[in-house]
This record gives sequence, C-alpha cells and structure tokens, in this order.
Amino acid sequence: MNINQYLEKHKNITVTKSGYEYRDNAPHILCADGFKMSVQVSNGHYCSPRINDAGYYDAVEVGYPNEREELLMEYAEEELHPTETVYGHVPARVVDAVIKKHGGFVSDGDVKTCKFCKTENIKTVSHCVSCGAVEFIR
Ligand SMILES: [Zn+2]
Repeated sequence: MNINQYLEKHKNITVTKSGYEYRDNAPHILCADGFKMSVQVSNGHYCSPRINDAGYYDAVEVGYPNEREELLMEYAEEELHPTETVYGHVPARVVDAVIKKHGGFVSDGDVKTCKFCKTENIKTVSHCVSCGAVEFIR
C-alpha cells in the first residue's frame, strides 16, 4: 500500500445541508518500528491538488511525527520543533519512502492502545513506546 492508496481507503467526505463539504482527517499512520505521523489531504491542507476528492495527490500534508525524520525536514514549518509542526506539500514519493524506511504500515489489527497515555503501539511490544507502561486496552 502506498500513501495515495491509504488516503483513498480512509476517504470520507461529508456534505452538510447548507452545501458545505469537508473531508475527515485520515487516521494517523503507525509504522512497524513505532514511527507515527499524520498525513492529510483536503481543500484545507497543504496538499496538491488542494481539493477534497482527488484520486491521486502529488503532495500531501504531514504533521506531528513522533520523532524527527530527516527525509521530512526540508518541508518542516518549524524546524526546531520537528514533532510539533506540520510539513507542507511533501511529495507523495517522499512519504512512501518514509513509511518504507520505518518498516511499512501496521494494520489496525496489529495495534494495541496504551491504557495510560492512549498511544497506539504495535502488538508485539511489552512496554508502551511513549510512556513505558505495560497495560494496554485491547
Ligand atoms: Zn503509554
């Protein structure tokens, strides 16, 4: 699966009674080595094309990775705070490279949620990668 396939899979566009259209945020992406990030597209995100319903995006908006990722740094809005910033117009091929570098997507069924900090972890870890707790939901 590549990032465009992921975004298509999680696409959910709503049109309100008044005709306002919005696209839900896609769930954040968790990779096999524990790397996490948000990848979003819509008419309100830094993506290309900047519309809600494209079948393919050349560039996407990345946000809030859980660790600094060098491949993304040139797109960072706030380079000094790599885990607390957004990355505008990141080429889809760069995002695919980041996901591959971190071991690929972890599917929903292979995830468990920390009881304390609610961080999603890969099922095989014994301690939460974020807070070190050993109790999980699911
Ligand atoms: Zn935790």
